[in-house]
Amino acid sequence: MICRGLRMQAGFPNIASESFEVSAGFRTPWRCGTTGEPMKPCNGRFSVIPTRVARLGFVFLVGMCLLARPVGAAAKEPVVVTPAASFSHGAPPPADAVILFDGTSLAKWIGPEGKPAGWKVENGYMEVVGGAGGITTREEFGDIQLHLEWASPSVVAGKDQGRGNSGVYFQGRYEIQVLDSFENPTYPDGQAGAFYGHAAPLVNAARKPGEWQSYDIIFHAPRRGADGKVVPGSFTVIHNGLVVQDHVPIPGGATTAAPASGVVEKGPIHLQDHGNPVRYRNIWLRRLS
Ligand code: MG
Repeated sequence: MICRGLRMQAGFPNIASESFEVSAGFRTPWRCGTTGEPMKPCNGRFSVIPTRVARLGFVFLVGMCLLARPVGAAAKEPVVVTPAASFSHGAPPPADAVILFDGTSLAKWIGPEGKPAGWKVENGYMEVVGGAGGITTREEFGDIQLHLEWASPSVVAGKDQGRGNSGVYFQGRYEIQVLDSFENPTYPDGQAGAFYGHAAPLVNAARKPGEWQSYDIIFHAPRRGADGKVVPGSFTVIHNGLVVQDHVPIPGGATTAAPASGVVEKGPIHLQDHGNPVRYRNIWLRRLS
């Protein structure tokens, strides 16, 4: 039997699984377009895609599917969970904390190329000055527990990744995204609380624009084993009281726009200038190693 024309059966989530099914022994969803019968060998060979035009169409369709797939599309859109009015907001630093910002001074921070940190400090917070560049701690750290609070601008401007974007880079390499994710669609692994480009937050715990939000983050740095291979680190992130990253592995590659790269024992905390006037306050950490 020679089949001309194919039709796809319903219930298959994507073209990739179908092509796998086809190659794995003809437990195939493809059926003859004229008779509806399952595909069979045709003229001594399996005629899954019998004509040149059909083959070209198949390749085109797969290509379009891949091109249309945005970054992070494998992750689901996080469900919105409204957080409680406060969680660790205003949490005083414990006795063994390293205080990075107490609301009065950027003395613990430097700007690009060792210049003074150029962000605004007023009313107990610091604010990104677009174009001044990110700021980086003078001190370097390995494994840490970090607390910080941030607020996206109360006046909404821009959309998607252009709305209230900043970020916290651990060791200057691995970013936990800061973004105004309140009713602001974007790709899942670019939302607030995402390990940028790697892991979407488990839920969308964003508060409204201008409201203070808390991050409590446990970071274990990737490191090199005795054989020279990278042993992944991990992120656990609590956003406004909700776990959004649960011991997620950090493979070791620096995330987008990171000011540093390479696996190291210690590195600084870096806060990103993405051009939006995001505010930070009450930043402290505890060393875990
Ligand atoms: Mg960012």
